[in-house]
Amino acid sequence: ASGYTLLRDPRHNKGLAFTENERDAHYLRGLLPPALMNQELQEKRLMHNLRQYKVPLQRYVAMMDLQERNERLFYKLLIDNVEELLPVVYTPTVGEACQKYGSIFRRPQGLYISLKEKGKILEVLKNWPERNIQVIVVTDGERILGLGDLGCQGMGIPVGKLSLYTALGGLRPSACLPITIDVGTNNEQLLNDEFYIGLRQKRATGQEYAELLQEFMTAVKQNYGEKVLIQFEDFANHNAFELLSKYSSSHLVFNDDIQGTASVVLAGILSALKLVGGTLADQTFLFLGAGEAGTGIAELIALEMSKQTKAPIEEARKKIWLVDSKGLIVSSRKESLQHFKKPWAHEHAPIKSLLDAVKAIKPTMLMGTSGVGKTFTKEVVEAMASFNEKPVIFALSNPTSQSECTAEEAYTWSKGQAIFASGSPFDPVEYNGKVFVPGQGNNAYIFPGLGLGLIISGAIRVRDEMLLAASEALAAQVTQEHFDKGLIYPPFTNIRKISAHIAAKVAAKAYDLGLASRLPRPKDLVSYAESCMYSPMYRSYR
Ligand code: NAP
Ligand code: MN
Repeated sequence: ASGYTLLRDPRHNKGLAFTENERDAHYLRGLLPPALMNQELQEKRLMHNLRQYKVPLQRYVAMMDLQERNERLFYKLLIDNVEELLPVVYTPTVGEACQKYGSIFRRPQGLYISLKEKGKILEVLKNWPERNIQVIVVTDGERILGLGDLGCQGMGIPVGKLSLYTALGGLRPSACLPITIDVGTNNEQLLNDEFYIGLRQKRATGQEYAELLQEFMTAVKQNYGEKVLIQFEDFANHNAFELLSKYSSSHLVFNDDIQGTASVVLAGILSALKLVGGTLADQTFLFLGAGEAGTGIAELIALEMSKQTKAPIEEARKKIWLVDSKGLIVSSRKESLQHFKKPWAHEHAPIKSLLDAVKAIKPTMLMGTSGVGKTFTKEVVEAMASFNEKPVIFALSNPTSQSECTAEEAYTWSKGQAIFASGSPFDPVEYNGKVFVPGQGNNAYIFPGLGLGLIISGAIRVRDEMLLAASEALAAQVTQEHFDKGLIYPPFTNIRKISAHIAAKVAAKAYDLGLASRLPRPKDLVSYAESCMYSPMYRSYR
């Protein structure tokens, strides 16, 4: 290949890091200025440039440009500066990027499969340049973060998630495939936007929707085999639960909004228990929001509880209450409830408001999963602090604007008593001369390691036991030193090591359950996981 082509190939381009010898051997003379710059210096230069941008979306665009120009450098930046760059390539900035995707769209970064491709999905998959795919993240754009229906512009989400699979979990970039399924959008603003990139029609539903997804799922298995991981992302809950239950017995599928969230939040709860004292079964939970996140977390908590107490799961569920848009979920509402809410309809008089529910149920742990911001009011937080010495308050709705309360509000309103975590990041808060570091229950703690564990073991199905194993592995990474600072999640700086530990536990579960196809089983799964991880360091070309 000519030097010119090499410079335009993001997978191989090194820019000024091409050595003198490489410049001679690969026809690069004259195409680059004379200076040589190693990867560390390039990284320093780019981070300096990024920090000049004050508008988050400009940072996002700069990162996407880098990914399209020099892939290894992109991942080197992301890995070495993970705490700083995660909010750029993922929530909250990715949300804004999706909203404006039509105007910032440059080059396609994944596959678009729309109703127009019905009957031809297998051919579409074959248009993708890579043959060896290990992970697909797919969305239909109907519930992007807490931002609602963004249609085809949801593509930012699979792209962002997969870059985290590589940066945090060490999957090869070439093995990752972002896909957006476009069945239309009900977002009027987008339908009327001249720059909208998707199909200009209302969402297909019912049989038409089901058939397109069926064709997609069949084509994926046919093209990539049984061991490709398909992660469903940001589907609306009416489709999400159904797709997951429909395909979990025939495909390696995982829904991050339901299962990944559940696993990361359970890990936070398990480690918060070390600060609160008592066991999981001693707790009472109240959720605001009974959708994918809320019921997903509730179910995994109940599973862990019944595993610990050896009591039936129905008993464990009774310790968990949920509030949806109509109020507390109680047995008198059972008939009219969606099926995923039914297990949570316990005996109680109806209650409308969250505040009244908090006062009646007296939860020890309050979880926000409604997607509606500012719902943990001063009164709610004060009530939590009035009957709990250390109320656990998780404001999980994303992006930041939708957070149930801010970290500062949780700490000041509870007079420094709260143990707080959120979905989107908050800075540490000083209250009464003490610094409180909020936890971030970011799914990025779990899914990269979980995915790595599934891939390295050649798992063919995902099971709840694997999610529990991932939660326990993450919680085990929180040390006394972290607890002393009030942290309930380990710092992100060590995320690759954390991912390797999660991967090892997940893989071990896959082997134990007889669902692993990679034989023989490696002796040391942690070091095996580490050895499989992608490194962003430049290769030398001879
Ligand atoms: P979802 O499936 O649409 O569920 C939303 C739930 O909230 C529904 O039960 C809905 O009630 C309820 N709700 C909406 N408005 C409400 C109100 N004003 N008062 C009380 N309940 C209300 O959405 P999801 O997938 O669970 O996501 C919810 C939020 O969690 C999003 O903001 C998302 O970003 C966030 N999330 C965070 C993480 C994380 O932090 N790691 C992970 C995943 C999701 P009805 O059922 O009555 O409509
Ligand atoms: Mn999501």
